[in-house]
Amino acid sequence: MFGRLALSLKITNWCDLNCTHCCECSGRNNPTNFMPATKAEDYIGEFQEVPFNLAQHYTIGGGEGLAPYQFGDYDYIPQVLSCIYKVDGVPTIKTNGVWGAKANLRSDILKGLAHSAYVGNKLLTLDISVDEFHNNLNGVANIITDVVQSDYLLSAIRIALLGFATDGTRKAMNQLRSKLADRDVGWDNIPNGDIGVYRSGGNIGMRVIVNDDNAIFDLGRAKQNKVYTATGQPTMTYVNCIQIDNNNLAILNYLYCEQIAGRPLSRVFESLQSKVK
Ligand code: SF4
Repeated sequence: MFGRLALSLKITNWCDLNCTHCCECSGRNNPTNFMPATKAEDYIGEFQEVPFNLAQHYTIGGGEGLAPYQFGDYDYIPQVLSCIYKVDGVPTIKTNGVWGAKANLRSDILKGLAHSAYVGNKLLTLDISVDEFHNNLNGVANIITDVVQSDYLLSAIRIALLGFATDGTRKAMNQLRSKLADRDVGWDNIPNGDIGVYRSGGNIGMRVIVNDDNAIFDLGRAKQNKVYTATGQPTMTYVNCIQIDNNNLAILNYLYCEQIAGRPLSRVFESLQSKVK
């Protein structure tokens, strides 16, 4: 193995969408089964002792990565973010953005996330899938609009829209652009296939990542027992990912799994690393 190693925390199998293709074994009928926030803190702390070149990337995902808010727990995500910031990490939260359709919840979540980012003094990224599989365009349009139209949110929250190089994704992205068009939120093509979302007066650097396998890999998209999308060619900036799920399973690069079984992450990683061919 070479490159760097990022940590991804899968905090729940609950999700308010029920996508048929779900690669995270998640959905509306799954129990929340949240990874306790203190456990997440332990993993982040133990990760610092893993004998490898550590990346700054820390991902919170699920299921729905912001699910705790939807169950009335407004402390969980700030607590985990605070821990990530303490180790100088850069956080990404994977979310479907459906909550963006609920005005009060959206306001609470965005303000809460921005507050964490200001305290941590580092941008926070929301990683949202926009493609043919997710029924989330209204919520995503509302989130982007709120962020773009607020200097406070804009300085704290970055949004990465993730899709595929398919006609279905292009259609969904165009539908989203149409929804934004009437809200003083524009959308422009920028070089290398990315798409920038901007408000009048300037590009604000949001990115749409289409079929960028390395980016998907970096962000820790995974499934317990199946290799998924992680097909980027290794480079010197190659980022390996160790995902810890809410059932105490550790997964390295979507290929090698082990129960943690009470061991510190450094030991678990060494054991997983020994399986890498
Ligand atoms: S939004 Fe993501 S986690 Fe939720 S059901 Fe769909 S694919 Fe699975």
